[in-house]
Amino acid sequence: MTKLVFATHNKNKLREVHEILGDKFEIASLSDINCEEDIPETQPTIEGNALQKAWYLYENYGVNCFADDTGLEIDALDNRPGVYSARYAGEPKNDENNIKKILSELEGVENRKARFKTVFALIIDGEKFLFEGLVYGTIATEKHGESGFGYDPVFFPTGFDKSFAQMQPSEKNSISHRGIATHKLIDFLLNKI
Ligand code: IMP
Repeated sequence: MTKLVFATHNKNKLREVHEILGDKFEIASLSDINCEEDIPETQPTIEGNALQKAWYLYENYGVNCFADDTGLEIDALDNRPGVYSARYAGEPKNDENNIKKILSELEGVENRKARFKTVFALIIDGEKFLFEGLVYGTIATEKHGESGFGYDPVFFPTGFDKSFAQMQPSEKNSISHRGIATHKLIDFLLNKI
């Protein structure tokens, strides 16, 4: 069975992929390979960061692997927060302050268009593959809903009358950037065997 390391400590992300691929690929986490250091994420783009994390593991641990990176790109803010989504309002990471910051930057702005982007970078035997998931929507003027995380309460996906934070997890996953990118990665891997 092909062993693949997923560059994450996030148990939810790992479980999601493991549930689909677990009997076809041996999916290991960073803890499974005793990787406890902070993997560098210093690139200016989402693709760049996903690739940087995957190459780091491949080169330092000699494993076939994949890594993901996600960001919110807002039209009127020249695609910010983008790669800086997690810590847009500074350290430590704080979802509430991040939302406040984008809402204040968008105060009085008519163009509220935005998109979430997830990229998975997969490296197998030194060859790289990229998988992208995009979901388009608009940024509300205030928060709506309690579920989800990050910018979910202010993101209204196109075609829906509710925010990501007003959706059940299964509904969000079925249309989300991460869901789309995950399925592209999984389809690719399933076709490889
Ligand atoms: P990560 O690359 O998955 O760690 O995501 C980086 C940051 O983007 C997170 O800390 C959140 O602020 C934001 N983000 C990522 N995915 C989502 C999502 O599905 N909903 C809302 N915010 C998200």
